[in-house]
Amino acid sequence: MKITEHIAQAKGKTLFSFEIIPPQKGKNIQELYNNIDPLMEFKPPFIDVTTSREEYIYIDKGGLLDRKTTRMRPGTVGICAAIKHKYNVDTVPHVLCGGFTKEETEYLLVDCHYLGIENVMALRGDAMKHEQYFKSTNGGHTFATELVSQIQNLNAGKYLHDVIDVDDKADFCIGVAGYPEKHLEAPSLQTDLKRLKQKVDAGADYVVTQMFFDNKKYFEFVAAARKEGIMVPIIPGIKPIAVKRHLQLLPQVFKIDLPEELIKEVEKCKDNKAVRQVGVAYCIQQSKELLKAGVPVLHYYSMGKSDNIKAVAQGVF
Ligand code: FAD
Repeated sequence: MKITEHIAQAKGKTLFSFEIIPPQKGKNIQELYNNIDPLMEFKPPFIDVTTSREEYIYIDKGGLLDRKTTRMRPGTVGICAAIKHKYNVDTVPHVLCGGFTKEETEYLLVDCHYLGIENVMALRGDAMKHEQYFKSTNGGHTFATELVSQIQNLNAGKYLHDVIDVDDKADFCIGVAGYPEKHLEAPSLQTDLKRLKQKVDAGADYVVTQMFFDNKKYFEFVAAARKEGIMVPIIPGIKPIAVKRHLQLLPQVFKIDLPEELIKEVEKCKDNKAVRQVGVAYCIQQSKELLKAGVPVLHYYSMGKSDNIKAVAQGVF
């Protein structure tokens, strides 16, 4: 079922969902299941599965370093199919511009369609680890808007190069990213909102936000988006702080602010066990306020670990 249908069917009741990261290649999928199992009691209508950028690795060949390009966490679509099959839940693969040609994207979308995956998140992707800025892949897309258009073309039965007669169309529901504190490369929040509007005009059906820790930022973002004419559901993405290092890491990576009260509480903690408790308590309070405001879904970034997400869900749902 489409995410927009899940939201409509819930008739105003806030749904619970979460995002997981594929295991590193060579690791067993069981650990992923062990982290999903405890969250299924909260009946997520959908689970997102991230896609990681490819990266360079260097292999020592007798003193000479041989550079190879690899994806350390492959298998997003396979994992989506496995989870869908095992738990009978909708899964949402993250589809990236970066690292994929348009052809490869088409193959991936065709696979999704055959597997009965009805929702995809269309994202540009971050820069590769060694790059300062995102560089588009030869033959790939530069912005998520273009990817949304490609997916919408498929929905209309228009494949690349128009080479075939089509008698079976895809019907993907498309999610895109939104940034309550603006995307790190955007010159202003207003410009970023205009870009978001372009994604919606290209056919995006819903928005999931970057994590934020101050609900005011989300409420203001939704109000500004509505003023800009963005009328699709805007799902808040949130995450409990788990380690002290997050105080530096999250603002550095995502260019987001952390509220003073949260910083003070985390700084008081003697160890990361205490930080996890503070993170969970704060996230419960944040979630309850969002729930009261009637958000369609509370979407949690699990970062592969479910114990704190479970503790939050127990306190909220
Ligand atoms: P875009 O919408 O293309 O925007 C990127 C930047 O370009 C913005 O600054 C925007 O304002 C600007 N822009 C857009 N269009 C134009 C234009 N026509 N001209 C000039 N500027 C323009 N990353 C991953 O690698 N894997 C994941 O699985 C993943 N999942 C995510 C899930 C969510 C919910 C979110 C919020 C982010 C996720 N990301 C993921 C991170 C995301 O890929 C990065 O934030 C990336 O830098 C931007 O992606 P985007 O889709 O928002 O890009």
